[in-house]
Amino acid sequence: MEGKLIIFSAPSGAGKTTIVHHLLKVFPDLEFSVSACSREIRKGEQYGVDYYFLSVDEFKDKIERGEFVEWEEVYKDNFYGTLRSEVERIWKKGKHVIFDVDVIGGINLKKQFGANALSVFVMPPSIEHLENRLKSRETETPESIARRMGKAEQELKTANQFDKIILNDKLEHAFEEAERIVEDFLN
Ligand code: ADP
Ligand code: 5GP
Repeated sequence: MEGKLIIFSAPSGAGKTTIVHHLLKVFPDLEFSVSACSREIRKGEQYGVDYYFLSVDEFKDKIERGEFVEWEEVYKDNFYGTLRSEVERIWKKGKHVIFDVDVIGGINLKKQFGANALSVFVMPPSIEHLENRLKSRETETPESIARRMGKAEQELKTANQFDKIILNDKLEHAFEEAERIVEDFLN
């Protein structure tokens, strides 16, 4: 069967991962799309759970074979992408796919899947909130925060290319809105 696809995108720190995890608890028919990437595996991460970790050569090989629905070189030699086999794996189980990807990946996925996909942009209340949230998450070095913030302004300008925008100010409100939007789309 062909299921549906729900895409959550935002600048880093806006809260998309938090919202997607919440939705996975509320909707048992959703399953998370595990991306492939070629960056180093971080402490605590697991193959097949956080990402399918590939070498740069393995990743390029799969690009050539046309195995990706979408892919991107986010930083030099750091490739990220969605494998067609991942979407098919989830659909085969009779589930719908939910994605947590950056805005370029989100826009590309929506283009590929059209009306079968719902694309949602998570909007932070301000740029300052983004930076504070990234700092409070305690996963980033000062350099990686600066790099992420450097991309954020451009990324915020892509919000109007998404089907829906959720303002993530009070998290409880964002959860409720996300639940409502997903419910409407699945029915
Ligand atoms: P993203 O996946 O978009 O990079 P995360 O979901 O990891 O963002 O959220 C970034 C940080 O901000 C996390 O520490 C998260 O707990 C926190 N956060 C998310 N939403 C809110 C909110 N509405 N108010 C305050 N903090 C939030
Ligand atoms: P990180 O290295 O912090 O896990 O992720 C780096 C960036 O890659 C994030 O902006 C994340 O959203 C993006 N990313 C993760 N998976 C994918 C994917 O499948 N496709 C695209 N285009 N970007 C992705």
